[in-house]
Amino acid sequence: MATINDNYLKLKAGYLFPEIARRVNAFAEAHPEAKIIRLGIGDVTEPLPEACRTAMIKAVEEMGDRTLFKGYGPEQGYAWLREKIAAHDFQARGCEVDASEIFVSDGSKCDCGNILDIFGDNNTIAVTDPVYPVYVDTNVMAGHTGEANEKGEYGGLIYLPISAENHFTAEIPAQKVDLIYLCFPNNPTGATASREHLKAWVDYAKAHGSIIFFDAAYEAFITDPAIPHSIYEIEGARECAIEFRSFSKNAGFTGTRCALTVVPKTLTAKAADGSNVELWKLWNRRQSTKFNGVSYIVQRGAEAVYSPEGQAQTKALVSFYMENARIIREQLTAAGLTVFGGINAPYVWVKTPNNLSSWDFFDKLLTICNVVGTPGSGFGAAGEGYFRISAFNSRENVEVAMKRITEKFKG
Ligand code: PLP
Repeated sequence: MATINDNYLKLKAGYLFPEIARRVNAFAEAHPEAKIIRLGIGDVTEPLPEACRTAMIKAVEEMGDRTLFKGYGPEQGYAWLREKIAAHDFQARGCEVDASEIFVSDGSKCDCGNILDIFGDNNTIAVTDPVYPVYVDTNVMAGHTGEANEKGEYGGLIYLPISAENHFTAEIPAQKVDLIYLCFPNNPTGATASREHLKAWVDYAKAHGSIIFFDAAYEAFITDPAIPHSIYEIEGARECAIEFRSFSKNAGFTGTRCALTVVPKTLTAKAADGSNVELWKLWNRRQSTKFNGVSYIVQRGAEAVYSPEGQAQTKALVSFYMENARIIREQLTAAGLTVFGGINAPYVWVKTPNNLSSWDFFDKLLTICNVVGTPGSGFGAAGEGYFRISAFNSRENVEVAMKRITEKFKG
């Protein structure tokens, strides 16, 4: 009889979003007249930029021409896309990242999980709490953890709490950790990391031989010029960090799928025999073996992000969501709620009033305002007492939702 990967049985069965759906459906059934507005899920709502669509249409036409048709492309992504990414996203910010160190992929979610393929099973792993759940669950699947306790914390993982008390930036751990996941701007808290904070992490990682997984999926939403967009803006990061980026949120590619991972050639980790091995070589081998590249059409769409029109259109897209975030912040503050994030990130992290639990606040917002958000406790034990509101929505939905909340909560 075949056997399974028993680690999957340790996973908490995707509790958060199914439970939200269950509660929303039950409420909608009991109140069919309610016009429910969903500000919970972090998916984009606005159409793909015209520059990307035009480029993709042209690429589709090329695929119908025998002389221009493309079959398998390079597993790492086409050089013309990687060169533009290197120049615009990294070199223009003073980061020493070469096109050959960029691996184009079909998503940061996959890359964050797949990266574990090239690391050993005995690393000590740290995540923030609250956290983007993919970092945790992929480690559970890979057998890097024990069972979860009643709070949903897995044995063997080191949780670094982030809350208002530490300005949502995890304290550098006292003990040695080998792999550290950092996400800035942060999902779910909307917090950012200063240059000094990132430098402290890079210094720590270099001192301990640790590797930082830096998830910059939301870097396009940074408005403060002092905040780094890339970990490679910090000296020494080329010796200790892998960075994940995505076209999902800046260019609306959540359904189109294109992302990238940077693995500097200067990055090494230890083999069992004590030798230092280049991680770039391992990731290149992993991708060449298990991945056959992103479609030519999609890569042409991603390339168009870097054209003058694409730059203007993606900037406008990001500004649109950030205006939503501003409205959410202002209105919730006016309603007497304490809010964080939403200035350099598309997420607003709300402190629940009167010490309500995250789920009690969820129910309250659903029943009295017919607005759906995401309970902070769903992102980790330290998210209890917080609530995430996403700025990814139409202006009308945001305005109506905020009007309902201010009316019900004010005074
Ligand atoms: N990283 C973070 C922090 C995210 O919030 C998300 C999506 O919500 C992703 C990665 C996934 O990005 P992609 O659409 O490229 O898979």
